[in-house]
Amino acid sequence: MHIHPKITPIYQTSVFKFEDLTELELYFGEPGSRYLYSRNGNPNSDELADKVNELEGGAGAIATGSGMAAILAALLACCQTGDHVLCAADIYGGSSSLLNQELSRLGITVSYVPFELLYDLAPFVQSTTRLLLCETLSNPLLRVADLRRLADVCHGLGLKLVVDNTFASPILTRPLALGADLVLHSVTKYLSGHSDVTAGAVVAADAAVAARLKQIGVLFGLTLSPMESWLAVRGLKTLRLRMREHSHNALAIAECLQRQPAVRAVYYPGLPDHPQHELAREQGAGQFSGMLSILLADDVDVVNRFIRACRRFPFAPSLAGVDSSLSYPLGTSHRSLTPEQQQELGITVGLVRLSVGVEPVEDLLADLEQALKGL
Ligand SMILES: *Cc1c(COP(=O)(O)O)cnc(C)c1O
Repeated sequence: MHIHPKITPIYQTSVFKFEDLTELELYFGEPGSRYLYSRNGNPNSDELADKVNELEGGAGAIATGSGMAAILAALLACCQTGDHVLCAADIYGGSSSLLNQELSRLGITVSYVPFELLYDLAPFVQSTTRLLLCETLSNPLLRVADLRRLADVCHGLGLKLVVDNTFASPILTRPLALGADLVLHSVTKYLSGHSDVTAGAVVAADAAVAARLKQIGVLFGLTLSPMESWLAVRGLKTLRLRMREHSHNALAIAECLQRQPAVRAVYYPGLPDHPQHELAREQGAGQFSGMLSILLADDVDVVNRFIRACRRFPFAPSLAGVDSSLSYPLGTSHRSLTPEQQQELGITVGLVRLSVGVEPVEDLLADLEQALKGL
């Protein structure tokens, strides 16, 4: 019987069989021709890595057990003890915690660069500085990094540019094409898109760096499971369609919220008054993603009333699913920052982040309007 499934089946196995020693030697002699052990490679995780690599236009990629594992792999592929990295001050809280609390113990130090100084890196560079880590669209204020310009600045100083492209997705922006050296994702977010997978991926522009990533993934055990890989691959198939709807809905919501008296500010790169609107348009292929933040009164009771009143935006501290949600940066993603750092980044009591899903936009607008009315 010949079975020809249209879709890659789930190879839910930790290990693969060999006929004899000759076949074992073929595994080592012809890399990629066979599988040995799922931590080293599995058809499902390889399929995900290949698909993300293709979307990002890389020379090779790995799938990882989480976005955090992807950040770790990217940093370890470029750094060793004694090295120094630069990191955009507007960065995912987990990234700064990893650098501050864990990589610092291994002798990898970090300096944070405020958004306004990102293109003037020279004063931050030490003889041991290896790279700059930044996000295409920052969390939670949706600042837009000019990646082509940043790549030029970094390369002029002998640094690699590592981009966390989670918020934009390769549908909007392909950092490697703009000069970045590595691009990574929390696949948990848009790439999977259904809030049912925890996964990550890292893509390298250079094949030798991709080989380093592969070894780091295997030896640090950062591998993604077959089932999670399969779900992520399924999600990827609709990424282009989802991003269009996320962007469409988020723009309509941003425009509507701008007119609401209870909303003191709307942070969305699709709005013409956003400081990097033109850059966002050009770099995002005319789409602006589904993430936006709003500033309510800096009053915990007001924020709580809003959270309780929202029906279509459950408070769930993640993002980028087909179902809308909201999050609270001060209490979740940016909780471990000092009050001064929170203040500097504009993460105050009234800041609420919306992850706009793909539901009918009228339903989402009606829900937000009724929730704001009660404040
Ligand atoms: C969620 C997130 C991460 C971490 O990814 P996990 O899958 O939760 O480990 C990294 N970067 C950004 C921008 C994120 O939103």
